[in-house]
Amino acid sequence: MNIDAKSVKFISRLEVLFVVMALVSVAVLLMPKDYLRTSFTIDPTEYPAILVDDAYSGGSSDVFWVDKDAQRWRCEMDEVSSSPYCSIQIDVTDASNQGIDLSQFDTMTVWADYEGSATHLRIYLRNRHPNYYDPNNSITTKYNAVEVMADDLSSGLSVDMKQDFSVASWWLVAGGIPLVFSRPEFNEVSIVEVQTGSSVESGMHEIQLEKITWSGYVVEPTVLYQGVITTWTLLIVGMLIYRLLSMRSELGRQKKHQQELLAINRSLNLKSRRYEDMAKTDGLTGLSNRVGIRNILHRGMIDWRDRGADFSFIIIDLDNFKSINDTFGHDVGDKILKEASRVMLSRVRRTDALARWGGEEFVLVCPETTLDQALLVAENLRAELEASLEYRGTSITASFGVAAMSDTDLDQLFKKADNALYRAKAQGRNRVVGEQGKE
Ligand code: GH3
Ligand code: MG
Ligand code: MG
Repeated sequence: MNIDAKSVKFISRLEVLFVVMALVSVAVLLMPKDYLRTSFTIDPTEYPAILVDDAYSGGSSDVFWVDKDAQRWRCEMDEVSSSPYCSIQIDVTDASNQGIDLSQFDTMTVWADYEGSATHLRIYLRNRHPNYYDPNNSITTKYNAVEVMADDLSSGLSVDMKQDFSVASWWLVAGGIPLVFSRPEFNEVSIVEVQTGSSVESGMHEIQLEKITWSGYVVEPTVLYQGVITTWTLLIVGMLIYRLLSMRSELGRQKKHQQELLAINRSLNLKSRRYEDMAKTDGLTGLSNRVGIRNILHRGMIDWRDRGADFSFIIIDLDNFKSINDTFGHDVGDKILKEASRVMLSRVRRTDALARWGGEEFVLVCPETTLDQALLVAENLRAELEASLEYRGTSITASFGVAAMSDTDLDQLFKKADNALYRAKAQGRNRVVGEQGKE
């Protein structure tokens, strides 16, 4: 394949791209997965918070701020109701009342300070979703719940967002939530609520939520690996398609080039044949000239010499043509020459070759023809000319000298025929004379 400069440039660029891609791919595969992680942290004190107790469900627990600015609060729990509790509800919506999208994170880490006898605290990430959330009723936020060990909170406790959370069953029951919406969801968390857990005993609980961090993959490693494989596949397929297309267009170009060359050759051949024809043709009569019958003369001589094939030669000379020219003019003479050619040509055998020898002289080359046969051919032509060639009542005739090949010397053949013609003229013209006076 003939690769042009453009393709070379493209292919070398492609090689650079391949090398870069390979390096990037290796880097991606070897890169620590943590590099793909991102995190989001909230400081609860930056958000408005309220304290809630169990009065709503018939309890008599008391809740109050110890240090409001630090969001430190205390719950005096009283086991009057079946499930006593105290809560802090932190409103994490932004200025446009939009919650936080935590759906991309897989881990939540909570730091808190707890004093009291409870083993567990409960954390709710209350989520809004049009499927169940009614803006006029804050209890319609989905209660995604996790129970965490109170003791671990001081050093930061991590929970799995996907495995450790579950939706509070009381909420599912109270809201009549269908099963399809019963799984934890974190698309728009509007309230973070920390509550004394289910294992709580009566007494004092003091809680200060310090920090919550969510972390997760910016891109899941599997997605990234799939991306690398897909990119390579696309690149290779793209390159193959490009090569296929460029090979096809190159093939097309070469084919076109070949066709052009062929066309040029054809027209050159035609032209040279035309010049060849012109060189072999007599301009006035359209018959062959001397050059035009060179081959057939040569062939006849060879055949006679090699296999003894007969070969005859006839010279034809129009009678008194000078006086025809003188009487009617040169142009009429030309017309008569043309007419004589036409008449003779209509009568000659296909195997014979008629040519204008010059002036008002013609020759007929007769391969595979004996002297006697040639005499007959000549006689035929003579009679035909006499019968059909005339101008203004003047009959135009011709004399014929006939000879057969008897020597490899073509000159001898011409001479013999010429002598015979001379005799035909001498004997009164309009006749056929063969060599050695044969008629
Ligand atoms: P004959 O052969 O019968 O002896 O008499 P002739 O008059 O034909 O003999 P000659 O060979 O002396 O004259 C030939 C004449 O043919 C001379 C010339 O005027 C004429 N001639 C030769 N070539 C052409 C030609 O191309 N056109 C015309 N119109 N005349 C030609
Ligand atoms: Mg003559
Ligand atoms: Mg003549």
